[in-house]
Amino acid sequence: MKTLRCAEPGRFEFVDLPEPQPAPGEVLLRVRRVGICGTDYHAFRGRQPYFEYPRVLGHELAAEAAADAEGFKTGQPVVPIPYLHCGECPTCRAGKPNCCPSIRTLGVHVDGGMRPLFAVPARNLLPAEGLSADQIATVECLAIGAHAVRRATLLPGEWAAVAGTGPIGIGALHFARLAGAKTIAIDIDPARLAHCRDVLGVDATVDARDEPVAALREITGGHLPAAVLEATGSPPAMEAAFEYVGHGGRLVLISIVKGRIGFEDPLFHMREMTVMSSRNAAPQDFEHVMDALRSGAVDIAPFVTHRCRLDEIPQVFEHWSDPAHGVIKGMAEL
Ligand SMILES: [Zn+2]
Ligand SMILES: [Zn+2]
Repeated sequence: MKTLRCAEPGRFEFVDLPEPQPAPGEVLLRVRRVGICGTDYHAFRGRQPYFEYPRVLGHELAAEAAADAEGFKTGQPVVPIPYLHCGECPTCRAGKPNCCPSIRTLGVHVDGGMRPLFAVPARNLLPAEGLSADQIATVECLAIGAHAVRRATLLPGEWAAVAGTGPIGIGALHFARLAGAKTIAIDIDPARLAHCRDVLGVDATVDARDEPVAALREITGGHLPAAVLEATGSPPAMEAAFEYVGHGGRLVLISIVKGRIGFEDPLFHMREMTVMSSRNAAPQDFEHVMDALRSGAVDIAPFVTHRCRLDEIPQVFEHWSDPAHGVIKGMAEL
């Protein structure tokens, strides 16, 4: 079975591996689409901490059951939840498998989906009837934003600002809008802000290089946003986001970076700010995204901007990872 794997930083290779045999409780899947994301680009460039090579990448997957198993029927479309959790620890038992301490993510800690067939535990599969392969492959990425929005507990009519409008930030903007919030996109890239304004229909945009706090005050009648969701991946931007939050508001850090980030205590304290992280997404976030895709409340036509076949990934990868090329979501077809 022809499998694409990242042999070492900067180098893909095609290898012929035996077809995987599903273990008890697993379902053999046929992969239809693989979405490519920042995690994959970082892994390819050797910037992903704790990453071991060789590794089969791919965690944003559209698949179908390759055989009847565990209640799934041959050909049935599924969304694989790529976070393999233990199911037994207090965190899992509390309904938070997305942050299980022994989590292993497909395509990161264990081999992922850049191959025609692979086996995944049935408990990590969600039936996905009524969705196209393209839609299914965007669910995981959009669920990250949906989860962060759920963490933010937005009320209808509140102002929610999303800093960083890559694929994760776009997902957060969609689900903040669906939660009834008024949305503000913050970025340093005028083209991305134009996309948010013209295609996504956000209520306002702010250029983070041009007095963003003053701009946010003006937009929100002086109060600043009730919730700020941070998805830039930049430590200075994460620190700046503390200044964007209104009194009594919430700051949700979706970005994860190496090292420390800091803030001024009076800034944080006087606002009685709630600061929280948001990691991965839980099954109910996946279901929420699937409902939004099925109903048409979220349209992925403008989201999937680039396509290739699996065997073309090595040629396009460098190009797609360069922000100058305007890739929102690149997707490989199998
Ligand atoms: Zn991803
Ligand atoms: Zn666990």
